[in-house]
Amino acid sequence: MKITMAHGSGGQETSRLIDEIFARAFNDPVLSRMEDAAVVPGAGRLALTTDSFVVDPLFFPGGDIGRLCICGTVNDLLMSGATPRYLTCGFILEQGADIEDLQKIARSMADTAHEAGIAIVAGDTKVVEGKGNVYINTAGVGFVPDGIDISAANCREGDAVLLSGNLGDHHATILSTRMNIKNDIKSDCAPLGDMVHNLLAANIKVRSLRDVTRGGLATVLNEFARASHCCIELNEADIPVSVEVQSLCAILGLDPYTMGNEGKMIAVVAQEDAESALHILRHSKYGENAYIVGAVTHEKNASVLLHTALGGTRVLSGLTGEGLPRIC
Ligand code: MG
Repeated sequence: MKITMAHGSGGQETSRLIDEIFARAFNDPVLSRMEDAAVVPGAGRLALTTDSFVVDPLFFPGGDIGRLCICGTVNDLLMSGATPRYLTCGFILEQGADIEDLQKIARSMADTAHEAGIAIVAGDTKVVEGKGNVYINTAGVGFVPDGIDISAANCREGDAVLLSGNLGDHHATILSTRMNIKNDIKSDCAPLGDMVHNLLAANIKVRSLRDVTRGGLATVLNEFARASHCCIELNEADIPVSVEVQSLCAILGLDPYTMGNEGKMIAVVAQEDAESALHILRHSKYGENAYIVGAVTHEKNASVLLHTALGGTRVLSGLTGEGLPRIC
């Protein structure tokens, strides 16, 4: 069955779409009340975020737009040290979108939300003319425990820079799917709560956290360097990139440092906690391939330097220009 303009009318077809696909998949007591706004218990400090998802294709090796739209919002909340709690979702459905696809997407959202420990408590659907595309906006709320102060501006000289795993997998997957290149690369799309919670529970002095999404590692670290007025030095030999992604990069002239990821994060921690933090990441879900990739040096010299495997040093700039459109 396909989405028709009647599904966007606000009438019976709309109700049926919501009841049979979204309410059934998300099955949350607050959402099931179907009020105009979700009323939920609060906390002292809240983290809020929103993100829109327009990925093309909707389904790809390792994930789909449903898993992606939960992970993106959950991970942005986590990077402030918050515990993700509540999520809202808005669906823009083009006429002709496949209802079975929507069912799969909703189930994937429900499974990922369950994994990430976040409740889907409110939502909206709109139908527009078009070619059958699906777009999703998600907004999230998280509670920030007292005493947590995690910010890009907190990096200081001597801190260690940790990366939670291989770079470039999501970007390479989307590109390969669109270009019809056959390989075994899968998106890394994942919620990062286990790593963040384990670092905080062990009282690791976490200065800065950021999920390494569009713009890649180079862009994130340049933002850190600028915000905290310091220099970040990386060792290329310590930065993990899978052999498959390295080969794809070599063939297509891509740079893994500016490629997007959906299940990786950078953690800057105090030097004395570096080894414990690495141990914690490697024993947390999705962090088994974590590495210490560099250090914060020479404050007030805001740049990112890469010490290459061949023994040279180059300035690593953030992504400029378009990158790959509709990657998330
Ligand atoms: Mg982010």
